[in-house]
Amino acid sequence: MLGCAIYNSGEISDNMAVIIDGKQLSAQVVQEVAVETRAFVEEFGFQPGLAVVLVGEDPASQVYVRNKVKRATEAGLHSIEYKLPVHTDQVTLNALVDKLNNDPKVHGVLVQLPLPKQLNEEDIIAVINPEKDVDGFHPINVGRLSSGQGMLIPCTPLGCLMMLERVLGNLSGKNAVVIGRSNIVGKPMAALLLKANCTVTIVHSRTQNIEAICSGADIVVAAAGQPQMVKSSWIKPGATVIDVGINAVECDGKRKLVGDVDYTDVEPVAGAITPVPGGVGPMTIACLMKNTLIAARAQMNK
Ligand code: NAD
Repeated sequence: MLGCAIYNSGEISDNMAVIIDGKQLSAQVVQEVAVETRAFVEEFGFQPGLAVVLVGEDPASQVYVRNKVKRATEAGLHSIEYKLPVHTDQVTLNALVDKLNNDPKVHGVLVQLPLPKQLNEEDIIAVINPEKDVDGFHPINVGRLSSGQGMLIPCTPLGCLMMLERVLGNLSGKNAVVIGRSNIVGKPMAALLLKANCTVTIVHSRTQNIEAICSGADIVVAAAGQPQMVKSSWIKPGATVIDVGINAVECDGKRKLVGDVDYTDVEPVAGAITPVPGGVGPMTIACLMKNTLIAARAQMNK
């Protein structure tokens, strides 16, 4: 990262990409949530509650859940972790979610994905009470987002949007390309950018000539799960590049995490760029805290 300017850290010269520091921004978001949580506790006499359900022992999921619980504590939320064995069946998982749906101390329910293969992700998402669906994956919340009235918005795209607004301010009229069309990142990202009045193109694994499409964009959000796929030739000089990808690769015999963007190649061309790690990842978790508080307020104000 030598030779790069860090966002919010002082003067930025013309030829350097702004590095969008997700750690710093997410810490700010968590602090803001903590302040609002204190006000919530004063008003209602208890903490907003977040239940996180982990099935099995997937190492990456274990790390994510640990980080979520840690951030929840920092944000002043009451977090409850449920660990279920890898062979848990659908009936047992549904019953736990149903119990959490009916627990007045729980305002947010998150089932960590991916699930072991005997479990159906769509079924379990549909069982979560939409008012407690802090991941924003329930079909009702998907519909609300696509009609522009979303309240519980998927955390990763929400974090990306916050970063873009920090760097660019008003996004109206920008040409944005989203690489990837998954339900958890690509599609909700496109919906959010559209709501922010961008002109949005989604490209995916069947799209032809992705490079040419990306190279006209003011904003590129890469969420394809393809290590270092996006090169400098794909990027218009000065464009803002958000790298959602988290890919474990072998480098000199060591395992390391890289994004979907070839950072070293793209950074000199981009106007602003997120690093991996330390970009979108921490923002995702901070937005989960924000959603839990939003859900709790909405439930108490009913
Ligand atoms: P996914 O596998 O569900 O979807 C990937 C999408 O990318 C698909 O729509 C596919 O059509 C598209 N795609 C695949 N190969 C492509 C190619 N060569 N060219 C263009 N498009 C291509 O993945 P996902 O769940 O959306 O996650 C995407 C990436 O983001 C992964 O690396 C994942 O680990 C990461 N991720 C990060 C966070 C975070 O918090 N930072 C959160 C969620 C996902």
